[in-house]
Amino acid sequence: MKKVYFLFAAVLLFSSSSLAQNQDSITIKKIADDILTNGTVFENLRYLCKKIGPRLSGSANAQKAVLATARMLKEAGADTVYMQPCMVPQWVRGAKETGFIKLADNSKFNLHLCAIGNTVGTAAAGLSAPVVEVKSMAELHQLGAAAIKDKIVFFNIEMNPTYINTFQAYGEDGAGRFMGPAEAARYGAVGAMVRSLASNVNDYPHTGVTRYNDSFPKIPAVCISTRDANWLSEQLKLKKVTTAYFKTDCKMLADAPSFNVIGEIWGTEFPGEIISVGGHLDSWDLAEGANDDGSGVTQSIEIIRALKANDIKPKRTIRAVMFMNEENGGRGGEAYLQNALQKNEHHIFALESDEGGFSPRGFSLEMTAEKEQKIKQWLPLFYNYGVYFMETGGSGSDVEPVLKTGAALAGLSPDSQRYFDIHHAATDVFENVSERELKLGAVNMAALIWLVSEYGL
Ligand SMILES: [Zn+2]
Repeated sequence: MKKVYFLFAAVLLFSSSSLAQNQDSITIKKIADDILTNGTVFENLRYLCKKIGPRLSGSANAQKAVLATARMLKEAGADTVYMQPCMVPQWVRGAKETGFIKLADNSKFNLHLCAIGNTVGTAAAGLSAPVVEVKSMAELHQLGAAAIKDKIVFFNIEMNPTYINTFQAYGEDGAGRFMGPAEAARYGAVGAMVRSLASNVNDYPHTGVTRYNDSFPKIPAVCISTRDANWLSEQLKLKKVTTAYFKTDCKMLADAPSFNVIGEIWGTEFPGEIISVGGHLDSWDLAEGANDDGSGVTQSIEIIRALKANDIKPKRTIRAVMFMNEENGGRGGEAYLQNALQKNEHHIFALESDEGGFSPRGFSLEMTAEKEQKIKQWLPLFYNYGVYFMETGGSGSDVEPVLKTGAALAGLSPDSQRYFDIHHAATDVFENVSERELKLGAVNMAALIWLVSEYGL
């Protein structure tokens, strides 16, 4: 008798939890079907890319994007839409950059290049100097001032192709751009020429941000295409190079006013518990910012639309946040945190999509082991939609500051193989985003956001 009773209790327990999972899977299927059928994420992305285009912080286009996404959030049915002010750095590229390598036979080889974000420009006549190639930061330090003073340092650091997660290569091999100009200036270099951080070989230079060190002079710096980098390295080996020349017209203006854009659905049971989902609204000036990060922005709006369209009322408050200034300052993320602290808000979870609009594969989780355990229990609910892992990792630089409120963080991890082919280059355009893949990312994000809103963290 006793045995039977325990068995009965076990069955009851099992069936009540599987019933919950079953109910959850029904809700998630409803959301997924709607996004895949009626989703507006792709059309919203088209608008951001084609009607507005590049959206560098402080630009007129960035302001247009603020207004456009506020409208999109209203159309999505958000209970409230508002703008959160923040001051942003305003870097302008100016006239298109030029540059060439002068060879020993007096011929010139024109380079495909662009100024690195946040750098100073050259003098009006440009900058000409002999070139020193380094393949690592260690090599730079080894060479020191004796070899580097008055030279242009050529940082030829390739993204390690053996890493399957390309973000790992970006992080490890990005030092040439992130801090190369500052470190070269330490040894008296007059300029820096950096191999584009790209996973493919072609003629497109990839920009991005660099950080100067206030203790050393700010020297002009450019990225050259990967094909040009390979060529230059070869010519240097053959001792055919006389000098490198480049001319940039970029400068940093005074900080300008801008905004994060926020749309909310108020929670029905615990409105004070806030769940954020977002991407960044600003983008580099060379392209449309389709994968970086129009995708994350429009996917976040899509979550609001899908929940409202299906009359799914979250127990906790859900906020879609379009962060400003991720690319060259991070001021939007910081403003979001400061507002949260001032208002004493209770943030429980923040999810970012800033790794491109490619096929979703998983989520990286930045939270306590206990919370991770809770979220990982939901993983089987995602299998039908192409997400197969949830593992410890970083989330995203816009949501990162919210960690200080004690919130759990996560990042969508799409397939990363093609992202650095186009990242921060003129090829990051709408045509390089698949509607299916973009929507599927939104489906998985919506599912996770809804589960957290239902069960808390
Ligand atoms: Zn980004």
